[in-house]
Amino acid sequence: MLFDLSGLDILGLALTAIFSFAVGKLRRTQSAECKTAERDMQRAKSIIQEFEGIAAQLQQAVQQHQQQVLQFKERVNAASQGRRNADWDDFSIETERILKPTLALADQVARAYDQIKQQSTVLVNLQESRIDALTGVGNRRMFDQSLESYRALFNRYGKQFSLAIVDLDHFKKINDTRGHLQGDHALSTVGLLLRDMVRETDIVARYGGEEFVILMPETPLDGACLFCERVRLAIETKLNLTASIGVASTEHFGITDDLVHAADQALYQAKEAGRNRVFLSDSDGCSSVELSESDLSHETKSDSSDTKLAVS
Ligand code: GH3
Ligand code: MG
Ligand code: MG
Repeated sequence: MLFDLSGLDILGLALTAIFSFAVGKLRRTQSAECKTAERDMQRAKSIIQEFEGIAAQLQQAVQQHQQQVLQFKERVNAASQGRRNADWDDFSIETERILKPTLALADQVARAYDQIKQQSTVLVNLQESRIDALTGVGNRRMFDQSLESYRALFNRYGKQFSLAIVDLDHFKKINDTRGHLQGDHALSTVGLLLRDMVRETDIVARYGGEEFVILMPETPLDGACLFCERVRLAIETKLNLTASIGVASTEHFGITDDLVHAADQALYQAKEAGRNRVFLSDSDGCSSVELSESDLSHETKSDSSDTKLAVS
């Protein structure tokens, strides 16, 4: 056998893997969190790079092979000139037979290469269309899609979750005094901090200009408030900015539209109360979240359902 067809197998696998990955991404419930999306993106990129490398090598190998066969054919033709007998004819027919599948293979490889390129573009666009370019967190579209998916999980399986809206305080002043570029830089550092602090299963997205949202699945209100208080403190101490945060949970607001409204109300109250604080919203209305140092010092940024909050 002049050519080992295992190259085709590799390409087939490569295409199947990329195609499945892209289709899987489309089908996957939109609760796929931002961090996971980012990791998937990196993984997909490196897989694609690898496959592109394999495809390019294969293409080169096939081209070389094709050239060799063509040269061989020419030699055979030259040698057979003037000496046409049955043996030489057989030789030539055999060469044609070898050449035919090789040309078909070259064509297949070229098409496979194009397909891989196309799939990789689809995949990259798909992922990047859900990420906010400035801050690296999810964008509004990702948030809306995730919330829809959480709504469905809540309605069907009673899966509880909490939602927080983080709004930077007097952000206009930062732009006015330090300039827009510095303002943008501050936003991207907040994005980085939030991404770093949340759990893998949480979703962080940029809700509007200087507002972020955090979706915390399977996290009761207590745990969400504790986490938000840590976020508030980290923004203050590490970034030299302040933020007001409103938190609400499906425990008290079943329908997600109400939930967003409830978190927004809590945020409004936090601003009214002087900013740089966390407010929660529950069936009794909005109230400030006050935590002791020992509550905050716990290492686990977990659901902390057993942590009792002091609410004033
Ligand atoms: P408050 O404490 O009441 O939240 O005051 P604020 O100034 O943060 O609130 P407001 O919502 O009135 O203004 C938000 C400002 O955030 C408006 C704009 O100057 C700034 N902003 C929004 N998006 C961006 C952005 O993408 N980059 C920069 N640099 N600034 C932005
Ligand atoms: Mg705002
Ligand atoms: Mg603000």
